[in-house]
Amino acid sequence: MKVSDKTQTLIDGSSVIRKLFEEGKELARKVGEENVYDYSLGNPFAQTPPVVKRSITKLLNEKEPGYLHGYMKNAGYDEVRSAVAESLNRRFDMNYSMDNIIMTVGAAGGLNCIFSALLNPGDEVICFAPFFGEYRSYVMNYYGNLVVIPAHIPDFQLNLELLDDYINERTKVILLNNPNNPSGVVYTSEALEELNRIIRKAEVRIGHSICVVSDEPYRELVYDGLQVPYMPKHVRNCIVCYSFSKSLSLPGERIGYMAISPDMEDYDQVENGLIVSNRALGYVNAPSLFQLVAKDCLEEKVDIEIYNKNRMLLYDNLRAMGFSCVKPEGAFYLLLKSPEEDEEAFVMEGKKHNLIMVSTRSFGCPGYVRLAYCIPYETIKKSLDAFRKLAEHYRA
Ligand code: PLP
Repeated sequence: MKVSDKTQTLIDGSSVIRKLFEEGKELARKVGEENVYDYSLGNPFAQTPPVVKRSITKLLNEKEPGYLHGYMKNAGYDEVRSAVAESLNRRFDMNYSMDNIIMTVGAAGGLNCIFSALLNPGDEVICFAPFFGEYRSYVMNYYGNLVVIPAHIPDFQLNLELLDDYINERTKVILLNNPNNPSGVVYTSEALEELNRIIRKAEVRIGHSICVVSDEPYRELVYDGLQVPYMPKHVRNCIVCYSFSKSLSLPGERIGYMAISPDMEDYDQVENGLIVSNRALGYVNAPSLFQLVAKDCLEEKVDIEIYNKNRMLLYDNLRAMGFSCVKPEGAFYLLLKSPEEDEEAFVMEGKKHNLIMVSTRSFGCPGYVRLAYCIPYETIKKSLDAFRKLAEHYRA
């Protein structure tokens, strides 16, 4: 049985990162797990906060099973959506109501609902490199085209000088990820204000509005007291895709939400479209138990000091060895500039020292590698020798 052409394309381009992870496992079988420094996968490493377990136990003991495990509105439990709205209003001075919140199967589920609801075949979604490679599949699922604006090197902020040239009549969505995977950069509020000005002007030129989608699974993982600007405060027609995968280390439970700006153009249509998409895509509703857990833990987060310690250990040492890298402000990724033009050759060289790094080619930004530092501190410490040898190799 042949798979569809679209699925074949997805298979062909299927995750380089997963492949590297498998190679890492293979290497571990050969040289021992403790001798492999696997920086490939963005799998949360910090412990899930104990409050999550307490909430699960309480819910299982106290809630009636028909309510806890039953079907519900496709948008999710009213009590959960109201609590999310209240929390966002308090933290970001918004005026959301329950109706603006739709519970989703993680941020990935939310993004798929948005593209399903908004895209006609051939519509364009603009994103800024470097970007989370899965966006390609999410947009392709609905026969849209992902259009990538090259990275703004060396600071990896939004490349706004080019944005207007990329907006045309087919542009439906501008997709941003803040804090960014893979750069770890946080976009500033000034950049978002400028983004808004460019979009407003371009909308007049192309004759229709553009939806801004803010993908924010790393919102809570920021360092040095930095605040991540709240996108809907800066841009119109915004949908925030949030996820508890990283903030509570719950990626397997698949829980998140979309927050639709109350002043969204054609609000009712968009809201209904997103809710219908949740059902039509077969998600039906976000996982019931974990919606209620999320409600109990809305303003909780993992101990980010664990990631912060890793970040500083890695960044300071790589810099001291002479590598050029972008200081991460958020998330748990670090971008390292390849010392040779072909970063895939650099990845191969790293493997000789049991280092598994990911080329950022599939993130739309060749010439760099991504290091996911959500691994044990001791592993990072041990890996420094391998990086030192790599640095010596390139100095020679
Ligand atoms: N967006 C970005 C930028 C990510 O890095 C990820 C996961 O790593 C996702 C979305 C998907 O997250 P979720 O587990 O909430 O679906």
